[in-house]
Amino acid sequence: MADKNETDLGNLSFDIPPEVLDEIQKNIEEIITNFPVPESNKLDVIRKINFMYSHTRHLSVTDALTGLYNRRSLDVHLEREFLRAKRYKNDLSIAIIDIDFFKKINDTYGHLCGDYVLKEAAYLIMETFRKTDLIFRYGGEEFVALLTETPLEKALIPLERLRSRIENYPFKYNNTPIKITVSIGVNANKENTETASEFLDSADRALYQAKNTGRNRVVTT
Ligand code: GH3
Ligand code: MG
Ligand code: MG
Repeated sequence: MADKNETDLGNLSFDIPPEVLDEIQKNIEEIITNFPVPESNKLDVIRKINFMYSHTRHLSVTDALTGLYNRRSLDVHLEREFLRAKRYKNDLSIAIIDIDFFKKINDTYGHLCGDYVLKEAAYLIMETFRKTDLIFRYGGEEFVALLTETPLEKALIPLERLRSRIENYPFKYNNTPIKITVSIGVNANKENTETASEFLDSADRALYQAKNTGRNRVVTT
């Protein structure tokens, strides 16, 4: 259940890029400085605004259902990590993890069950990777993992562990056991990958192959 502040903020639109939020924060600071907020209240006002600001900023980069970074965050981090790896010739791997036949879960057990599966899967994904890796909810039932300083052969180890863990995990909704599998497309950066979106596309192509060759597998191009 959302706490009061979350409910208050829940009516706002969070489709605000973090840069714009930073600009808003600056303006608010200016207003507090230039307008007569009573001295006795000043600290409270600043605290409240800071809380609202950091909460809103958090919501603007995360996905409400899973708590993972959202799609917009992916755009920012992907570009940055890709350029960093290219510039310093570091290894970087990218994986797209897609739940198999997820539509069927919704259709059979209902949307709330689908949401439960997404939350649980997000948790298993989060647990699999290192703190230095970045995990995003990319689309409805698709997740992206950016594995920094990780060559392809090293990326395959946790990805295979994740695939197997999800296959064997006792998902259960209203006492009904549910079998879930994921398909994973993975790739590492190469000299000839020019842009971040080409890099993401390479993982997407691998995922497509995983879907076409039977699902529940990790595939690289
Ligand atoms: P495939 O194995 O080929 O990936 O098939 P799929 O059924 O997983 O893929 P498809 O793209 O056909 O369906 C994805 C479904 O995910 C459809 C959509 O209703 C559902 N979905 C997207 N976002 C959410 C969400 O937030 N909650 C729930 N419960 N379902 C969602
Ligand atoms: Mg999908
Ligand atoms: Mg799917």
